[in-house]
Amino acid sequence: MSDIPLLPEVQAFLARRHGQFIDGQASIDADSSTFDVVNPATTRVLAQVHQASSDELQQAVDSARRAFEGRWRDTSPARRGELLNRLADLMLQHREELAQIETLCSGKLIQISRGFEVDYAVQFLRYFAGWTTKIQGRTASLSLPSAGSEQYMGYTLREPIGVAAGIVPWNFSIMIAVWKFGAALSCGCTTVIKPSEFTPLTMLRVAELAIEAGIPAGVLNVVNGAGGVLGPALIEHPAVAKISFTGSVPTGTGVGVAALKAGLKHVTLELGGKNPAGFLPDYPVEKTVDGILEAGYMNQGQICASAERFYIHRSRIDAVQELLAKRLAAIPLGSPLDERSGFGPVANQAHYQKLMRFFQQARAEGGEVIYGAESADMDGYYVKPTAIRARSQHDLIMREETFGPVGSLLAYDEVDELADYMNDTPFGLSASLWTQELSTALRLIPRVEAGTVWVNMHNFLDPALPFGGAKQSGIGREFGEAYIENFTELKTVMIRY
Ligand code: NAD
Repeated sequence: MSDIPLLPEVQAFLARRHGQFIDGQASIDADSSTFDVVNPATTRVLAQVHQASSDELQQAVDSARRAFEGRWRDTSPARRGELLNRLADLMLQHREELAQIETLCSGKLIQISRGFEVDYAVQFLRYFAGWTTKIQGRTASLSLPSAGSEQYMGYTLREPIGVAAGIVPWNFSIMIAVWKFGAALSCGCTTVIKPSEFTPLTMLRVAELAIEAGIPAGVLNVVNGAGGVLGPALIEHPAVAKISFTGSVPTGTGVGVAALKAGLKHVTLELGGKNPAGFLPDYPVEKTVDGILEAGYMNQGQICASAERFYIHRSRIDAVQELLAKRLAAIPLGSPLDERSGFGPVANQAHYQKLMRFFQQARAEGGEVIYGAESADMDGYYVKPTAIRARSQHDLIMREETFGPVGSLLAYDEVDELADYMNDTPFGLSASLWTQELSTALRLIPRVEAGTVWVNMHNFLDPALPFGGAKQSGIGREFGEAYIENFTELKTVMIRY
């Protein structure tokens, strides 16, 4: 097994000093403290990044506000679309460079970095570019009484909301940022993106490409640093009109409260979950195991929509368990820069330690380890793909998001019991049903409490369809037409004539 060679431009990028991207250029406050970016596959420090100072944060928001008022809001929709498409072209031209930087920072398999962080992110960016010319209000027929000859007309306008802050997690540092700035820019808003402190580098490079694409300075700014410090400062900044947050439920809840307290600011929260996959009694064992692997283990399970709870009919669960153990054991763990690896490290040390605590707890609660539940004997933050047979729906492993490669299996007897189990959680991001009986699936779909329900598939997103959480998994929707609401204010106009 061997790693692909790093491109010279990746090595040159890593050797630079890193900080923020403000008003069209790199910004480094030499006096501000730095934090390390660690390669989770080796635990070695890759780069150091200067934390944004409060002056820099101010400059980033000021720059976004100036770019909004002076330019971007009034740039024609067609031109906005053209520039976003040009950025998409440049991201593809720099595909390998962006993919390698992402893999080094996050431990994501290089094929996933190429396919998702670049190709798929570009697909979303082009989708948003296509909407720029289609954002519209409506005209309405009014019923106001007319005493004489006066008449009325009424219509609505969708106006860009202003400066939007995008707060991004570490699991997809480019793609989730694109969901935020692509959507914001297409509506005529400008942005300040705050990447996760674990993956702060890729967006600095994307912001440079945005300038090369011709997107005016100040439209896309990037500030880096600890979320607990920078996040509240961004949210409270009076010129920030909207916060689009993706991350964990506890942090997101705090962000929502802070946004309301900071002047009833608009907020979209895309949060985590404890997503269920329910396999109906007719579904064959081998296909069930394929489904579990698809739903739970891609990107080491570090996908918000991944399933972590697997409900299998009692008549099949033992056979499923046996085959699943074999299939998990056969996944080749290895360096994420080696194209033959099927499974890389988890993204950082804190996450690795959190998973170890989950394993301890699962054992203490009497969960049966089907496979894994331990680290792999390798240098980085490697955790074996894990499956645990839970004792009951009340086990911690069935209730709390691990955000890792950890599937918990539980047997059910009746279809009604399955629906109750699936909904027995405060979260509601996604869910999947697996059956060859379409009528069973169609009857169950309305009963499942989740923002997205898949049938015979899991973890697929398409820019044309809204995505977001029910219950405590979030507020608002991204993609589809739904995203336009996030970044525009609806203005009603009435005219008497
Ligand atoms: P996190 O909540 O710890 O951090 C997310 C972002 O918030 C980071 O940029 C962080 O620096 C910042 N942050 C931290 N404290 C903050 C504060 N007080 N105010 C403002 N910002 C703050 O999440 P994470 O560990 O980076 O990501 C994993 C979580 O994200 C999981 O729970 C996962 O389910 C969720 N997620 C959800 C989606 C979705 O679309 N629903 C997508 C990906 C990840």
